Amino acid sequence: MDSKIWLSSPHMGGGEMKYIQEAFDQNWVAPLGKNVDEFEIAIENFLGENKLAAALSSGTAALHLALIQLGIGYGDEVICQSFTFSASANPIKYLGATPVFVDSDKTNWNMSPEFLEKAIQDRIKNYKKPKAIIVVHLYGMPAMMDEILEICNRYEIPLVEDSAESLGSSYKGQNCGTFGEFALLSFNGNKIITTSGGGALVTNTKEQKIKTIFLSTQARDQAPHYQHSEVGYNYRLSNICAGIGRGQMEVLKDRVAQRRANHDFYKELFSDIAVVDVFTESSSDFYSNHWLTSATINKDFTSKTNHDLMSAFAEKNIETRPLWKPMHLQPVFKDCPYYGENVAEELFNQGLCLPSGSNLTNDDKKRIYDVINNFKF
Ligand SMILES: *Cc1c(COP(=O)(O)O)cnc(C)c1O
Repeated sequence: MDSKIWLSSPHMGGGEMKYIQEAFDQNWVAPLGKNVDEFEIAIENFLGENKLAAALSSGTAALHLALIQLGIGYGDEVICQSFTFSASANPIKYLGATPVFVDSDKTNWNMSPEFLEKAIQDRIKNYKKPKAIIVVHLYGMPAMMDEILEICNRYEIPLVEDSAESLGSSYKGQNCGTFGEFALLSFNGNKIITTSGGGALVTNTKEQKIKTIFLSTQARDQAPHYQHSEVGYNYRLSNICAGIGRGQMEVLKDRVAQRRANHDFYKELFSDIAVVDVFTESSSDFYSNHWLTSATINKDFTSKTNHDLMSAFAEKNIETRPLWKPMHLQPVFKDCPYYGENVAEELFNQGLCLPSGSNLTNDDKKRIYDVINNFKF
């Protein structure tokens, strides 16, 4: 059996061990230290727009702390893109609030501005005003930011960007993760860069960053003893993991270029296969890091399904994955309101994610090519 081709596996840059060794040499094996500080600076320099970043143990933790700082609590409603990974919605539940799910735009795959506005109007009219909007840049594709920001501003609802999959993506030249009141980044093992596990909360102000770090380190008041006036969390990133992150930030631009090259490979590979659409940017306003290249098989023109194609890959020890199953279809969220017309559901039924690691070799691509070449669509 040929070796496994993974969907998206960690790809070290070379500098990581140096920073980990430094932490060991100085015995800063703790959730604070030089690597944490330098990793945050590297993220801030990369993102620009005067944004600040607090390094945390996960992207999920980052979203949790963003929602806390937006005052979300029991009985509140938060609008969330339905087509996403569950971590975009779970922190809403941690706070006793209710997610209100919004469908995707057919072309962009992220939150539909049209359904977003319908949802807001209906919630205001019949229930209560949503307290925040969580938009996702799925698979690295920037969401329709002009339209969504215009709606956020008009209704005065703060925006949180889930940029877990979109570090290195940009919209009209501005980095994803710099549009919202808050944005979360993830450095989980399968993301475009990784700290094995980790995340960051991107903030607008120094006060928000300080508050984020305060909450993530058990909310300890200024006092000689342990004094607490607020509920705290243990969410700070370890100085060892941050060392990995420093090394990874040095190669982030290469990783984006490599993932985008994978995307070009797939566009070429499927260019003659009319029933397969490779998901790509609709205009030059959108610049995706192409974290995962995805495609849909048009069921109107073939009886072959995404699952047939995934099986053909699996037979050759090549990992692929269905698209995210929309949140409004998940048993855990079945009682939550939903606004849309099953665009995301259709995508889920027809799509798949293709191997997209920045470490994909030419041999790997040859094996992928062979699967497609031998597949009868
Ligand atoms: C990975 C991911 C997260 C969560 O990040 P973790 O670091 O794994 O907690 C959130 N949202 C999306 C869209 C993701 O892909």
